[in-house]
Amino acid sequence: MIIKKGCGKVKFTNKLTRLLGILLIITMSLLVGCNEETSPVGGTINSNNENLNIDLDEDNTTKENTSESNDNNEIKEKDKDEDIEDNNIKVNGNLEVHYIDVDQGDAILIKQDDSNMLIDAGDNAYGDRVVNYLKSNNVTHLDYVVGTHPHADHIGGMDDVINTFDIGKVIMPQINHNTKTFEDVITAIKNKGLKITTPKVGDTYEIGDASFIILAPNSDSYSNLNDYSVITKLMYGNNSFMFTGDAEVESERETVNNNQGLKSDVLKVGHHGSDTSTTPEFLNAVDPKYSVIQSGTGNKYGHPVQSTLTKLQNKNIEIYRNDLSGDIIATSDGNAIIFNTNPSEASPKQSTAPPEIDKEQTSNIEDNETKYIGNKNSKIFHLTDCSNLPNKKNRSYFDNKDEAINSGYRGCKICKP
Ligand SMILES: [Zn+2]
Ligand SMILES: [Zn+2]
Repeated sequence: MIIKKGCGKVKFTNKLTRLLGILLIITMSLLVGCNEETSPVGGTINSNNENLNIDLDEDNTTKENTSESNDNNEIKEKDKDEDIEDNNIKVNGNLEVHYIDVDQGDAILIKQDDSNMLIDAGDNAYGDRVVNYLKSNNVTHLDYVVGTHPHADHIGGMDDVINTFDIGKVIMPQINHNTKTFEDVITAIKNKGLKITTPKVGDTYEIGDASFIILAPNSDSYSNLNDYSVITKLMYGNNSFMFTGDAEVESERETVNNNQGLKSDVLKVGHHGSDTSTTPEFLNAVDPKYSVIQSGTGNKYGHPVQSTLTKLQNKNIEIYRNDLSGDIIATSDGNAIIFNTNPSEASPKQSTAPPEIDKEQTSNIEDNETKYIGNKNSKIFHLTDCSNLPNKKNRSYFDNKDEAINSGYRGCKICKP
């Protein structure tokens, strides 16, 4: 009996040791597992961003005992190797970022492998334009739809998009807006059985081999609807793109203070290039090589303003503008970014030139007895003196209304031709 008990005890101790051993192995593999899980995102960020690199290091030290610091270093070195491998693999495909011309408004399509994402969908009148643009780019599903904030020039066309495509996650800030445009979007979301995901700063999502991180909004309430704008940073290999919606001074300040690593190659300039965005502090933190401004030709707000253009020019940032170039497509192979068009030459001297060019264009048109000008992209036609005329290269000309309508165009809501 005693011996048996003794044996039992020995067995028990063996079991305990085994159990402890297994637990240790599980713990170790979990720790390694955690690192592996974060490594694709961390890897992308590592190559871009020093701030997040520091964050990851801090994570490692807080999670593990200091006595295991040697193991830590080994894990980190392993991760580095994996990152390099990952980058080599990722470089094989392309990431496309389409800044769609929706006149005065935002709409951005992101494509990587078979994954698609849409940030904003332009004004109500441009819903069809956005839907057709996506279709012509072989989009059947959108893994993510981001409505940066409830203003019509951003979510106006969103209901059309939601009704047309298979939709994964809808990300929108937690703020209601008492407009029919906003209600239409909410109805479309509900009718499709979708839910709204509230953006949380620091949350990261994968889109093919790319990923994006939420950087704003950083507060629950703002006096200005624009400051609710969801700011995201998209990362692909060594390249990165920042999307800001209409975020203004307050949100920019919070985002800089939160310091999640803002450095990006391409900045979608906030609020259509208005002087209420693009503070020097924010621009310094993002420090982009390229900038894209989504604004409409001859818009009534005067966007983009010269002071914003000057800020960009002073830092030698290339400026791409939808109002001057139509659709703008940036393609990244993970290392370099190529644009489908030349940057706009909006130097302070030349910025006074566009009205002259417009006059020239108008006089040419009058000579040709053209009565209506169509936008080849949006399929909307205007009177020749409309404030919302498209860029010259996107124009089609009509002598009469029937000609425009028979060509599939419809009248502009502003000039009512
Ligand atoms: Zn806007
Ligand atoms: Zn807005």
